[in-house]
Amino acid sequence: MREPAWPDAVRHRNHTFFPSGRFATRSKGSMEDTQSQRSEPGFRINDPHISERAQRFPESVIREMTRIAAAHGAVNLSQGYPDFDPPRELVEAAKLALENGYNQYSTTWGAPELRHAIARKAKTFNGIDADPEANLVVTCGSTEAMMAAMLSLVNPGDEVVVFEPFYENYGPDAAMSGATPRYVRMEWPGWSIDEETLKAAFTPKTKAVIVNTPNNPTGKVFSSDELRLIADLCSDHDVVAVTDEIYEHIVYDGARHVSLAAVGDMAGRTITISGLSKTYSATGWRVGWAIAPKTLADAMRRIHDFLTVGAPHPLQIAAAVALEFPETYYANLARTYRAKRDRFVKGLRSVGFECGDPRGAYYVMADFSRFPFEDDWAFAMYLVERLGVATVPGSSFYGRPEDGARYVRFMFSKKDETLEEALRRLEPLRELQ
Ligand code: PLP
Repeated sequence: MREPAWPDAVRHRNHTFFPSGRFATRSKGSMEDTQSQRSEPGFRINDPHISERAQRFPESVIREMTRIAAAHGAVNLSQGYPDFDPPRELVEAAKLALENGYNQYSTTWGAPELRHAIARKAKTFNGIDADPEANLVVTCGSTEAMMAAMLSLVNPGDEVVVFEPFYENYGPDAAMSGATPRYVRMEWPGWSIDEETLKAAFTPKTKAVIVNTPNNPTGKVFSSDELRLIADLCSDHDVVAVTDEIYEHIVYDGARHVSLAAVGDMAGRTITISGLSKTYSATGWRVGWAIAPKTLADAMRRIHDFLTVGAPHPLQIAAAVALEFPETYYANLARTYRAKRDRFVKGLRSVGFECGDPRGAYYVMADFSRFPFEDDWAFAMYLVERLGVATVPGSSFYGRPEDGARYVRFMFSKKDETLEEALRRLEPLRELQ
């Protein structure tokens, strides 16, 4: 086994991208530490004017990797956005909206055109009955919807159950709302959940559970049985479920997306979050939404109003057009991503990664244990600096960073030629095993 070239990765610990010492802190500190409000010197901003709240979490690793990718001219397979455009009809609808008087604030909780379109689609696709006047909040992306949901539900000290590995944002969402996350591990390689562990995570302090299906970063699609178990626990413990269903249309191999709100009587205690970003390849538009029981929607509307006033009005009007796309659009989307997944994951395995087939979303957690690297950061920096491929270090998806230290996450929402180029750049890894 040959030693990889370390120096760049090691040098990066003190690189200008990272304030001194931050790298080391990342691998030792944990989101749990930050939630217990211990200030981490590694990502502490040394300015007495800064609130404790803002000191509890570092900047996003995913977005940071995107900047590092740009600095190195790397193929960016870190942050989850496509390198292709949204459907033409959507762009045309936005132009029309801009030219036809939709340039001022919309109703703060969403333009009626969009709320009605979401309610129609929620009924036909998700099996959720939503009253556009009472149950809908249109937000600046699902990111804002999740934050508004947490701020609406959680008091400092409350616990929130989070499946792990988790989408990075849920950590800061919990930290900002004051929640203590209780992690429930999804176990490699099938990302299965242990029933007893899940039951044990629900305590008298549990206020909410976050369910992300199809899942980022694992590609897991929660089964009806798993959702029923979660529903039973929510009902037994009087807990609200917040679901992140942003990848609801991207499923493979016969997997079926099921909305938790459509299971039993969960509609009465679920906030269902989705948005334009992934289904319509429009991550920059910042249009998302939440469907919630009236009292929860009312609370979210208040928070949302004072956070942002509203999502971009012309893009909401265009979004209403997208939500009327025919069934063939969604079938084609899933088929296209499935072909990308098949080619890309096969390519990763062929150079030496271990990874299962994600059943949904457009990410793959890849185990790089066969390559001789100290941890995920060292490996990710080697990939971006030496091979020109940006990934996300696995530790960013775990409460205890060391638990993710043998993974990096690749995303494959890219043109076929971009993915081919990434695989070509990864070829030298064969020599490192
Ligand atoms: N939720 C998950 C699970 C994601 O992976 C992402 C983006 O990568 C988002 C939410 C962000 O969505 P939006 O662009 O709607 O804020």
